[in-house]
Amino acid sequence: PESVPRRCNVRLPPGTSRDAFDKAIASLRCDIGAENVALNDQPLVDGWYLEHPNTHDAFHVVDQEDLVCSAVVYPASTAEVQVVVKWANLHAIPIYPISMGRNVGYGGSAPRVPGAVVVDLGKKMNRIVDIDPENASCVVEPGVSYFALYEEIQRRQLPLWIDTPDLGGGSVLGNAIDRGVGYTPMGDHFANHCGMEVVLPNGELLRTGMGALPGKDGVDNPTWQSFQPAYGPYSDGIFSQSNFGIVCQMGFWLMHETAHQSYMITFPRDEDFPDIVEVIRPLAQKRILGNIPQLRHVVQELNVTGLPKSHWYSGPSPIPREVVRKHAAQLPCGECSWVFYGTQYGDDAGINSQLDMIKSAFSKIKGSKFFLPKDLPVDHYIHSRALVCSGVPVLRELDWLNWKPNAAHLFFSPITPTRAEDAKIVHDINVRLHRKYGFDLFPTLCVAGREMHYIANIIYDRASNDEKRRAAGLMRELIAAAAKEGYGEYRTHILFADQVAGTYKWNNNALMRFNETIKDALDPNGILAPGRNGIWPKNYRGKGWQL
Ligand code: ADP
Repeated sequence: PESVPRRCNVRLPPGTSRDAFDKAIASLRCDIGAENVALNDQPLVDGWYLEHPNTHDAFHVVDQEDLVCSAVVYPASTAEVQVVVKWANLHAIPIYPISMGRNVGYGGSAPRVPGAVVVDLGKKMNRIVDIDPENASCVVEPGVSYFALYEEIQRRQLPLWIDTPDLGGGSVLGNAIDRGVGYTPMGDHFANHCGMEVVLPNGELLRTGMGALPGKDGVDNPTWQSFQPAYGPYSDGIFSQSNFGIVCQMGFWLMHETAHQSYMITFPRDEDFPDIVEVIRPLAQKRILGNIPQLRHVVQELNVTGLPKSHWYSGPSPIPREVVRKHAAQLPCGECSWVFYGTQYGDDAGINSQLDMIKSAFSKIKGSKFFLPKDLPVDHYIHSRALVCSGVPVLRELDWLNWKPNAAHLFFSPITPTRAEDAKIVHDINVRLHRKYGFDLFPTLCVAGREMHYIANIIYDRASNDEKRRAAGLMRELIAAAAKEGYGEYRTHILFADQVAGTYKWNNNALMRFNETIKDALDPNGILAPGRNGIWPKNYRGKGWQL
């Protein structure tokens, strides 16, 4: 969409006059250099994935100008982050840290409180601090993308893999602290991190894990990237999906390169869904499945060709089931309903014996068909899956956005046990409510041995206020309906954070009261990302900020 003149020149932080704001900005410019502070006073440009804005949510669900920052600051070091945090406390101005700010479908780089100052860490803090080939680990700053880390490992010719999510342009650190996932055996990014350096909301500096024990003669602790919990409470968890600190460095474990084999299995009927889940569970629990596989509805085979919806169907409604089947019959997957993408790892003999067990388990579902990448055309999606599943960052998933003009998307991401009964309840809620709100349902299930991430990608036209309203309405009703059955989301867009956090309300909101206790202790002035993940500091509570 074209940029339009701004309604308001600069959206001021709450409770801050223009005069006080200008004085505060002048002092910040003195502190860290005028060139490192930019006012957000120009027309907003949505850009695209690789040129994304840090001024607002490019995938706006509400008015483009509703979720904007007042300014962006670019610290170049942990010490400068501390300066910014102290400045925020002094002037009582909320700040909102981002690593690279892509975070597509979850709010982009937009602060939850309009007028907050975005702390864009990624622009200048983009060093790969260390790669340790013996320990198979690395330490990165917030601005290191999957592409950058991958390329450095290639440049050094190390036999190591990274783990990348579907899109490789995001921040390794940012994704991990938002608890994102990838698809190699080390796909749980937070679980595979080791050690953090964090600036606390009062400006103090903390190292977690073994980093808390000073190394000899002032060097970093030699075990910092080797042992996660160290001694005492395991504190790292509270810095993920929270507003308790700004993570300036983080260690990650890397995987050793190995042979691998991706494959695709198709299933003929919509009703096969519960049986597929039942077959996956033991295979995943016994670790016969090599990674976190994906189960997708076949409509995504149409979508991942990169062709627009209008190519397949010209009606205004969601694309009907029989139209999907008719087109699928012409595609390499053939006429089917569900498509499973998996990858096996190890040596050739190991992979072959695993594949035999997997084929035999799935053969219980009548009409299932097994494909290897070599059975499929070179432009088929499986080849990009095979790259992601072997730690090679790609951008193929951006093809989603060809589905509609001005396409943006939201993720509805509930977690269910890996069990037919639960999966069916959540899937039926999705089918019913997507139909009610007039959206195509694009479910992708990342299935582990005990839980599945059910990810529904809601694609809407951000130039249409009606579609935006319906997309938001659909999200709200999905969250409520899933919670009523006992299911909750693992992550959500900033606009729905309050609602999702509110569903985790067991025992009179014990969890949120616990989070608020920590928030108030660490951030008495309430300056760090107020409202992120539904956690409001005490100076915001009860003042109508919750959505
Ligand atoms: P990516 O570019 O990988 O998608 P982002 O930089 O957008 O990731 O990070 C996702 C979210 O996580 C941000 O909106 C922010 O709330 C939080 N976040 C990111 N980096 C940090 C950080 N270094 N410290 C604290 N919170 C962060």
